[in-house]
Amino acid sequence: MTEFVIQPTEQASVAVAGSSARFPIRRVFCVGRNYAAHAREMGNDPDREPPFFFTKPADAVVAAEGTVPYPSLTENLHHEIELVVAIGKGGTNLKPEQAQDLVWGYGVGVDLTRRDLQDTAKKMSRPWDWSKGFDASGPCGPLQPVANVGHPAEGRIWLKVNGEIRQEGDLNELIWPVADVIAYVSQSVTLAPGDLIFTGTPAGVGALQPGDEVTAGVAGVGEIAFRVGRR
Ligand code: MN
Repeated sequence: MTEFVIQPTEQASVAVAGSSARFPIRRVFCVGRNYAAHAREMGNDPDREPPFFFTKPADAVVAAEGTVPYPSLTENLHHEIELVVAIGKGGTNLKPEQAQDLVWGYGVGVDLTRRDLQDTAKKMSRPWDWSKGFDASGPCGPLQPVANVGHPAEGRIWLKVNGEIRQEGDLNELIWPVADVIAYVSQSVTLAPGDLIFTGTPAGVGALQPGDEVTAGVAGVGEIAFRVGRR
């Protein structure tokens, strides 16, 4: 067993539906724009752009329940509901038709975004990290194994704030379906067991306020509910 000079931090993980065993998280990849209507609302042409990616730290993923803290440095914290893919087997340079075999399961997650920091980063051609990769920036519900839910290719994806619908779309609107997304990631890095991929958000992103109650779901995968903490 390796000896370390300091105590290693606990393995980041996420709950699994119907099990006390947890899914260990290695890395978190996120697709930038993957629904046409959201690409348009952010001022981009959805037809011409191949997918691009950013990352979050593994321990940015927290349970999407109870209270999720309101982060520092922002006046404009945005919600982005997303289908999350959990990778169970590694692979590199895959074709889309090989990609599905890597999937262990699916979950419902929110790509929390400090939109004001992101807007500044875009204007100044700086990295997005500080706008996307902060503490608790990836609340995620329990993962559902493929054995339970198959590979969802259509179904409503939605998010409500204080009971009011804010985001709504369908998985069949993904510009790059899950298999294509996995293939693209695998062409940039070698995918490994424990990697999560947030697959992009439908239109309707907007600001969250301290105290807001967020409910969200993906048909056939699950639903989540959490409160936004105080500043
Ligand atoms: Mn996103």
